[in-house]
Amino acid sequence: MKHPAPTHAVDMLIVGAGFAGLYMLHKARSMGLDALVLEAAPGVGGTWYHNRYPGARVDIQSMEYSFSFDEALQQQWRWSERYAPQPELLRYANHVADRFGLRDGIRLSTRMAGAHFDEPSQRWTVQAESGESWSARFLVMASGPLSSPNLPDFAGLKDFAGPVYHTANWPHEPVDFSARRVAVIGTGSSAVQAIPIIARQASELTVFQRTAAYAAPAHNGPLDRELEARIKADYAGFRARNRRMHGGFGSLLPPNPVSALAASAEEREAAFEQRWKIGGFAILGTFNDLLMNEQSNALVAEFVRGKIRAIVKHPGTAQLLSPTHTIGCKRLCVDSGYYDTFNRPNVRLVDINQAPIERITSKGLRTGGREFEFDALVLATGFDAMTGTMMRLDLRGRDGLRIQDKWHAGPLNYLGLGIAGFPNLFNIAGPGSTSAFTNVIVAIEHHVDWIADCIAYLDAHGLHTIEASEQAEAAWAEHVNAAARRTVFLSCNSWYLGANIEGKPCMFMPLAEGFPRYADHCAQVARDGYVGFVLQ
Ligand code: NAP
Repeated sequence: MKHPAPTHAVDMLIVGAGFAGLYMLHKARSMGLDALVLEAAPGVGGTWYHNRYPGARVDIQSMEYSFSFDEALQQQWRWSERYAPQPELLRYANHVADRFGLRDGIRLSTRMAGAHFDEPSQRWTVQAESGESWSARFLVMASGPLSSPNLPDFAGLKDFAGPVYHTANWPHEPVDFSARRVAVIGTGSSAVQAIPIIARQASELTVFQRTAAYAAPAHNGPLDRELEARIKADYAGFRARNRRMHGGFGSLLPPNPVSALAASAEEREAAFEQRWKIGGFAILGTFNDLLMNEQSNALVAEFVRGKIRAIVKHPGTAQLLSPTHTIGCKRLCVDSGYYDTFNRPNVRLVDINQAPIERITSKGLRTGGREFEFDALVLATGFDAMTGTMMRLDLRGRDGLRIQDKWHAGPLNYLGLGIAGFPNLFNIAGPGSTSAFTNVIVAIEHHVDWIADCIAYLDAHGLHTIEASEQAEAAWAEHVNAAARRTVFLSCNSWYLGANIEGKPCMFMPLAEGFPRYADHCAQVARDGYVGFVLQ
């Protein structure tokens, strides 16, 4: 495809105005770079712009899930709840855009169509769907690991007479489900948050479940002001301690440094119970091997199943809601009343694992030879994660190498940051980095800072391009795989593996070695003059 010559030139073109794009733009400007963000949506905020479904909120505590790069920002911003709801997170993103004067560097409602690396100029030509194009020395993909909604190809979906919503593409005007019969397909994190709220509104709610979900209680509520004051008294120290935690958060409650197998049954039960009362991801840190050792994992999984049996009154429903896979293998959901919702007389659970959905009809859907009728359908079916957004682009590196060919067997990369054949392209919080296993804002800040240091290095050494080597990529793929093999993460069909998308190559995409080791690794690569990258 031949494109017209680019109409504008910038130093850095950034794709996406979520938290990654906002901080990248701020950082680039602080380095004196001329940078521009292209954002497909009409507003900033990324994930928090699109995921407006009822109950959407962050699953990492807000005092941790927020930017650390500016002391005045972190001191002055006040979260209202332990886990901020989506509207507040969106306000925060907008506040950051205003506070740092970023808006004039962001082109909203401008969807990137593709980008081609131009050999003679050693620059990227980036095209928008509008037909505009830019020439950029650096291309930064800040498009997010969970930004392409997964719309399964259900037969007959178009025949459904009522409205169809996807949790990741929710309307801006309030959706009123009162006096309506609603169906939800999917039981991952999005569904687990939305279902209790939809159930309170709808006259009838039918949940179609393929795989039961583990959910730990959020115990959400107003932010503890005494805790806030304590953290703000030394926010920088708190952030630094979190960066030394496996997931980039949780320093107030580190994992217990012993194996679950070393404790007696009574000690284990008491320890699980204590962490369950604290809520959120705390339960997975009750012992240090719950995500590494299947035997230990089985103990905490059974503890949660016990909770489900205690909460859900109907034994058959409790049984169906009880997951059988390893806990944490799919991201643990953090809920507010999810299991209890199935005690409501207007809620029913339908297993679509044994008998998959046959087709959607004008009035509902058919599965297992049974017809279900409803007025509105909610698809909580997740994302084509980590690669979906880039694989939809016309992205071509050296010699016209298409990203679809480069990644046909899985997303090869080095450190998650670079791709051989795609010089001066950086990927933030994508495959090959700890992104999905980390407090993603910590991951974003780390990547942006690394990219900034890298560009400063290139300039200081009179170099123009940086590109991962194929050898480093192959070794990194093995490194990512080996880290996954040391955990329980390979034991189920998760989006980490691409297994939720039909036809997608199965390759474990995020790096499971923990943020501190990964960050140390990236720092060492930089100290060694970007070993594993080709610099020219
Ligand atoms: P998800 O975890 O991938 O869940 C999708 C659900 O839809 C699963 O239950 C899946 O079943 C089901 N599904 C997918 N395709 C289906 C099909 N063809 N037929 C029947 N069922 C189907 O997606 P998500 O809930 O949107 O969450 C994705 C990630 O986003 C989370 O893991 C988390 O990282 C993030 N997130 C975080 C929060 C938060 O609490 N802050 C909230 C929402 C999302 P299977 O399991 O059988 O595939």
